[in-house]
Amino acid sequence: MNLRDYVRDIPDYPKEGIVFFDIAPILSTPEAFRYAIDSLAEKFKDSGATKIVAAEARGFIFGAPLAYKMGIGFVPVRKPGKLPYKNRCVTYDLEYGTDTLCIHEDAIEPGEKILVIDDLLATGGTAEGMLKLVKDAGGDIVGCGFVIQLGFLDGDRILEEAGQEHSFLIE
Ligand code: 5GP
Repeated sequence: MNLRDYVRDIPDYPKEGIVFFDIAPILSTPEAFRYAIDSLAEKFKDSGATKIVAAEARGFIFGAPLAYKMGIGFVPVRKPGKLPYKNRCVTYDLEYGTDTLCIHEDAIEPGEKILVIDDLLATGGTAEGMLKLVKDAGGDIVGCGFVIQLGFLDGDRILEEAGQEHSFLIE
């Protein structure tokens, strides 16, 4: 299975000059979706992770079935104002400006082994925000998995500098 065949390149979305990698064909093709989840599960089967942390919205799509498949917990990371219980939030840099991500303050126990999942690694800002949320909670990040890496954007440098184990299904 070549998963790249199920990612559609959309030019000039969300802005002119940007090519957006649309994962909808993966999701609408049962064999491709199953292949993506099974491949991530295989990569991290020996990680010892007890929870997956993933950010809205597309991180949920891969993170939740992966948690189910691996028989571990799922922790949602969301934009401010979306999580009902007490929040811990982090603000991180984007190319232009900043963004904020939040997690429930009791979602991760100190020392708990955490797998960070998202659909796509671009600049690495979102991943960096998730790493910080997990570390601030005392979690031990045992891996970071992405379906797609945009290699030309260097987002993996952030993960390398943080010494985080990471892998991609499409590079
Ligand atoms: P980063 O923070 O690494 O710059 O961007 C990655 C985040 O933005 C991910 O959560 C991802 O869902 C979203 N994202 C950015 N560009 C794309 C894209 O081209 N395709 C998809 N599917 N998601 C993107």
